[in-house]
Amino acid sequence: MSIRIGILGYGNLGRGVECAVKANDDLELVAVFTRRDPALLSIKTPGVPVVNVSDVEEWEDKIDVMILCGGSATDLPVQTPHYAKMFNVVDSFDTHARIPEHFANVDKAAKENGHVGIISVGWDPGLFSLARVYSNAILPNGKDYTFWGRGVSQGHSDAIRRIEGVADARQYTVPVEKALAAVRAGENPELSTREKHTRECYVVLEDGADAAKVEQEIKTMPNYFADYDTTVHFISQEELDKNHKGLPHGGSVIRSGVTGHDGENKHVIEFKLDLDSNPEFTTSVLVCYARAAYRLAKEGVTGCKTVLDIAPSYLSAQSDEELRAHLL
Ligand code: NDP
Repeated sequence: MSIRIGILGYGNLGRGVECAVKANDDLELVAVFTRRDPALLSIKTPGVPVVNVSDVEEWEDKIDVMILCGGSATDLPVQTPHYAKMFNVVDSFDTHARIPEHFANVDKAAKENGHVGIISVGWDPGLFSLARVYSNAILPNGKDYTFWGRGVSQGHSDAIRRIEGVADARQYTVPVEKALAAVRAGENPELSTREKHTRECYVVLEDGADAAKVEQEIKTMPNYFADYDTTVHFISQEELDKNHKGLPHGGSVIRSGVTGHDGENKHVIEFKLDLDSNPEFTTSVLVCYARAAYRLAKEGVTGCKTVLDIAPSYLSAQSDEELRAHLL
């Protein structure tokens, strides 16, 4: 019997989960839930109903794992604890500083209602977190680096779009090659924020907007751009739609450390991702953890978990015997 999956929230990740479920024979999409009028959404899977969230309680016994695809800023802090009362849930919550608080809220709701909730699943947090933990445990004497990109940062793109006179924008986060090369060579450099990444912006102006003023406002924006070398390119909407519509991303988690009585031997561990589609990759990870949530729930486990708590074999559709024979 397939694992019955629900999608709650139909944005980039919601659409990605739909594709990822299709790629896994042991998973079956049962329904898509939205806060909007369901008639406005056209999903790609034939025969699967789109339902307003107000009717979600009717689906408690029909869904094994609900994959929550809301935004991290305001949706998931409310949605994940709420829906963990009704379902086993998985989310991609990525506000790193607020993970402990989110964990505590989901843990309470999930434990009180006998469910499993796996939070902060994806690539960062997610696979990058696993890479950091493995490499820190293995090389206690060392230094950690994370480089992101080249990829689209939706948060930074949104911040530019909020500037007066801007019609549309895409922002790429770009790692500084020289810094990356030094880290890969095991040189353990001290790097400032500016030395690790640059920011590249493609901006469409509204008619009559002042380009110099917009550029100045972008480059001096605190937290987002002020600490980086930022380049701004003004382009037409047609060019943006043609060349900058995708959502590529990726990056590297690197730990460089030493072993030996005098630290004489150098080691570099690198975990690298190069992604054509951030949401489709993220959701490919989410469905694996949905499989894990289902299996944990079957074993009677309750409460909140993160990727750090789940054994790798729980993610795979293959049996333990198959994994030992072919992938160990
Ligand atoms: P979106 O903005 O595309 O979707 C978020 C929610 O907004 C949806 O669930 C949907 O809810 C609503 N929505 C979507 N499109 C529309 C629309 N046209 N009009 C009105 N409402 C809409 O976000 P993403 O799917 O791109 O990302 C979700 C979160 O995932 C992000 O906050 C990001 O931080 C996180 N993430 C985490 C990663 C990781 O590695 N851990 C990687 C990538 C993303 P509804 O259907 O209910 O209206």
